[in-house]
Amino acid sequence: MTSPAARALVLRRELEQAAHAYYVLDRPSMSDAAYDRLFRELQALERDHPELRDADSPTSRVGAVVTESHLAKHAHLVPMGSLDNAFDEAELAEWAARVRKLTGDAVDADGYCCELKIDGAAISLTYRDGVLETGATRGNGSVGEDVTANLRTIPDVPRHLDGAGWPALIEIRGEVYMTFDGFERMNAERVAAGEPVFANPRNSAAGALRQKDPQETARRPLRFFGYAFAVPGAPELPFRTQWALLDTLAGWGIPTAPHRRHTFSLEAVHGWARDLEATVRPALPFAIDGGVVKVNALTLQGELGVVGGRVPRWAIARKFAPDLAETTLLDVEVQVGRTGALTPRAVLAPVEVGGATITYATLHNFDLIAEKDLRLGDTVQVKRAGEVIPQVLGPVPERRTGAERAVEAPTRCPACETPVARDEAEVALYCPNVACPGRRLEALAHFTSRDAMDIRGLSTQRLEQLVAAGLVTDAADLYTLSAEAIAGLDRLGERSAAQLIAAIDASRAQPLSRLLNALGVRHVGAESAKLLARHFGTMAALVDAPVEALEALHGVGDTMAAAIHDWAHTPAVRDLVTRLQAAGVRMDEPQAAGSGGPLAGFKLVLTGTFPTLSRHDATARIEAAGGKVTSAVSKATDLVVAGEEAGSKLEKAQQLGIPVIDEAELLRRLGA
Ligand code: NAD
Repeated sequence: MTSPAARALVLRRELEQAAHAYYVLDRPSMSDAAYDRLFRELQALERDHPELRDADSPTSRVGAVVTESHLAKHAHLVPMGSLDNAFDEAELAEWAARVRKLTGDAVDADGYCCELKIDGAAISLTYRDGVLETGATRGNGSVGEDVTANLRTIPDVPRHLDGAGWPALIEIRGEVYMTFDGFERMNAERVAAGEPVFANPRNSAAGALRQKDPQETARRPLRFFGYAFAVPGAPELPFRTQWALLDTLAGWGIPTAPHRRHTFSLEAVHGWARDLEATVRPALPFAIDGGVVKVNALTLQGELGVVGGRVPRWAIARKFAPDLAETTLLDVEVQVGRTGALTPRAVLAPVEVGGATITYATLHNFDLIAEKDLRLGDTVQVKRAGEVIPQVLGPVPERRTGAERAVEAPTRCPACETPVARDEAEVALYCPNVACPGRRLEALAHFTSRDAMDIRGLSTQRLEQLVAAGLVTDAADLYTLSAEAIAGLDRLGERSAAQLIAAIDASRAQPLSRLLNALGVRHVGAESAKLLARHFGTMAALVDAPVEALEALHGVGDTMAAAIHDWAHTPAVRDLVTRLQAAGVRMDEPQAAGSGGPLAGFKLVLTGTFPTLSRHDATARIEAAGGKVTSAVSKATDLVVAGEEAGSKLEKAQQLGIPVIDEAELLRRLGA
């Protein structure tokens, strides 16, 4: 049997290696659940054998050992801690009992503040006289890395605090994160560009923060929520509870996370955590790994203090059961993307993870399969987080029988049999045949998709029918279709045919930015397309732009500039653009944004659910009218648009006397 001392040594080494992979390389080497299990084993061992305790143990440290990197070091004015975990209701009850033992009934007066536990990267923002001075990662809690230039590229991080009442020197703490949408869009762009993909939104947010080039950070869709503060000394503060602090942060223009709850009993905290896991989490647009329960009164927080310099006694993370499962890898299919990229997809024995049955999972590229040493027939770990496409984390080698077979990378395109190609600098294999039917179908699906020309009713199956019937080979052909020509297609009645033609017709008026995105230029996503369209104004100006003019544009790197230039000088592209133009497709960008629109110069905040508009649509229409949508209500907000079940933002607006309108009024102002 291994001695406790030897076991502790093994655990420390494994945890240290994992922490390095997780915090420094942003590429976790094991699942969080596995890490937490080892961590707890070590904690128990050190508790039972006090002689094994060590100030250098991962159980007494925050984060990872700070190593040399390209970033300057930043010493936090007040250390940044971690959080203790409660994995079930019993552990949460133990925490609450400890709090009560130390504070008596005092905790009942202000109760608990329950918040989302955002799964991102912790940062600290230093504001001096209300102006952002530095931003740094948590690092080892005392010393982090200075990422100010990168943080300045995140629109959610204000350069100046709004309102008044902030101490002359304050550190505002919070989490930089990525939405699922942003993460998937970014990974899709990376796949199309043959670049390696990120494992999950947390690691990609942490990685984006530590980039060398702030321009690169700016291209990543990062967001920020604040949830804490630290001030040296004991200045007068304009709040006395965590709840009021969050309101105050919002008033200062710092976005705060939704779905917080003020509770006064342990039962109510349990109820909130159940709601969080069952209904809130599945609908959130970003990842959380649980909730955080905090003693609300700041004086009590001070009395309870911090344990071992690492975790506060006044707060606890209520972690969820991991959305992980094991199943068998049955097969690996190859999908052809619109740029020809050949992407492997895992076919799995159906398994339930996080409330859904999974049969497919993304594998990103063949290098990754080799790196993870995945074999057909392997037992694999799969993970699903929120709306993110399920992922295969890796094989469970202990479960191998010897009958597993290697996964072969394809040598021919599965759609057209053309031998596959590989770019020196890129990871993805691709089909070089521009006429490949697989590529064409994907390109058409992308052209009609919601963020592109937004032609409703044209599903991939419908497109497949149109292609099979010989009616469509590329995007320009869509505009030659008539209701009569398509009415004979399978399960397409006369009325649906007419609706489809009307939808195609309406898409002729989409602005250049959408058309550019729709045409699928390599390295150019929806955001870059907007930038290019705004700058060049017309398709003609863009396709004739010299490469230097493209490179000179802020936000367009050399790779993107070269890709656009190559694209614009491909005869097939010129031909397609000419045919689209002849079909009456709009080739310019309306210049309403920011200047002359009916909401020009207005800052709006949306809250609640609207009768007809989705958040996405409302934001798009406000932006098109020159307005800006921000997430927090502050004195700088001009209008709050409130729908059903509007929450604290509505209250805040009323407190600050900011005008509140409903959807009908918004539509009126938009001129609809
Ligand atoms: P943590 O993530 O469990 O909790 C502390 C952090 O929560 C804070 O630093 C803060 O960044 C964040 N947070 C989010 N919302 C918050 C809110 N509303 N209020 C306060 N804090 C909030 O702790 P940690 O020290 O960053 O990391 C430990 C965890 O990280 C482990 O439990 C494990 O799951 C994971 N980890 C995994 C590996 C791995 O190899 N997979 C390695 C190291 C750590």
